[in-house]
Amino acid sequence: MQFYSTNDASHKVGLAEAIFRGLPADNGLYMPERIDPLPLSFFEELPSLSFAEIGFRVTQHLLGDDVPAEELKALVYDAVNFPAPVVRLDERRSVLELFHGPSLAFKDFGARFMSRLMGHFNRGNDKQLVILVATSGDTGGAVAAGFYQTPGIEVVILYPKGKVSELQEKQLTTLGHNIHALEIEGTFDDCQAIVKRAFLDEELRSQIRLSSANSINISRLIPQSFYYFEAYKQLATKDPVAFCIPSGNFGNLTAGLLAMKMGLPVSQFIAATNRNDVVPEYLKSGNYRPRPSVPTLSNAMDVGAPSNFARMLNLYGQVSGLDPHDPATHAAMSKVVTGYAYDDHQTEDTVREVEQKFGYTIDPHGAVGYLALTEWQRDNPNVQGVILETAHPSKFKPDVERILGRAIEVPERLAELAFREKVSTEFGTAFEPVRQWLLKRYT
Ligand SMILES: *Cc1c(COP(=O)(O)O)cnc(C)c1O
Repeated sequence: MQFYSTNDASHKVGLAEAIFRGLPADNGLYMPERIDPLPLSFFEELPSLSFAEIGFRVTQHLLGDDVPAEELKALVYDAVNFPAPVVRLDERRSVLELFHGPSLAFKDFGARFMSRLMGHFNRGNDKQLVILVATSGDTGGAVAAGFYQTPGIEVVILYPKGKVSELQEKQLTTLGHNIHALEIEGTFDDCQAIVKRAFLDEELRSQIRLSSANSINISRLIPQSFYYFEAYKQLATKDPVAFCIPSGNFGNLTAGLLAMKMGLPVSQFIAATNRNDVVPEYLKSGNYRPRPSVPTLSNAMDVGAPSNFARMLNLYGQVSGLDPHDPATHAAMSKVVTGYAYDDHQTEDTVREVEQKFGYTIDPHGAVGYLALTEWQRDNPNVQGVILETAHPSKFKPDVERILGRAIEVPERLAELAFREKVSTEFGTAFEPVRQWLLKRYT
């Protein structure tokens, strides 16, 4: 399979280059050249397929023979080693729990798949690959857990000292082996600036094979399409389903659009956001106005310029392709995706309401999704809806406990991190000392 840049369809690269590069040089995003419908036999067999087998077949269908079948199967089965259960709230509404992985959020799917795919293409290369990432908390945890003990790959994570939660810090600093945490006395932006400098440093790059684990990497998107098929299987329905996706950078929603292109019967995608409502506003008005984000309770969705919007435009772009203000593009996209936005007050009320009505503890991101699905179903009462529950409520423990007025449980795998010893290397905001550290360690 070839991948093209959303900024220039004639710029094409193979799978390995797309994942190691991450971003095309023209600042677009990689997209698969073709997304064909899965064969009818896939849907006939779906009820009897395991989640991992679904992942394998979808990947093989999408990527063709870029990875030999036996290896691809082993790789996907290893990446998809935890479930994504659908939990029913009532006859029309369900929650798809995406938080059963190591870092308790859906990003584990992307990180685990990406690490194994990179590991595959990296084999036989005697120079180790160094993944450099800056994190404000969440992404780092998923990347650390996802790449832990991947042969031939070292991971260096930069995080702002004192600015991530204690459990988040433990996720970055207690694994050891090939995972290294650099604690930067500064902000997330300082961490990101250091990473950017490293990628621009030709001399450094001539000595160390550097790559990123950015959320825009196409290899993180592919596995996020698996759980749409898995949810459909668990619902055991013949009718199209509505998927409601609490969204920030719109990677999850874009992966749903890929699943639909591959033939999944979807009635509607519902984009749910907090007050950072650039996309719902666009879907309603046709006006695309990216702007600085505002902080909210559902902070993993605090995004003012969603990076995957270019991919969404590309899927529905008509005459003038990437122009959001092209009426045909807007019409095509808003037929498939509907958007709703809610504030923190509504989110808090909903966390309480879902607990009272269904005895289900939903996290603030899922609560925004619940609101949007419920609103959409007012006009579409006969369609089954699935809310993607993107993280475990204990990831936002202080807020959820305050809202519910009671203690909530932290899953064992996260709770035990509190007792592990933190190991990190401290730096200021200057690039040179980090550069020297990298050179000393990896050359
Ligand atoms: C990353 C994240 C989101 C946003 O997902 P996108 O794919 O960027 O839209 C939503 N909820 C949680 C908990 C997340 O970690």
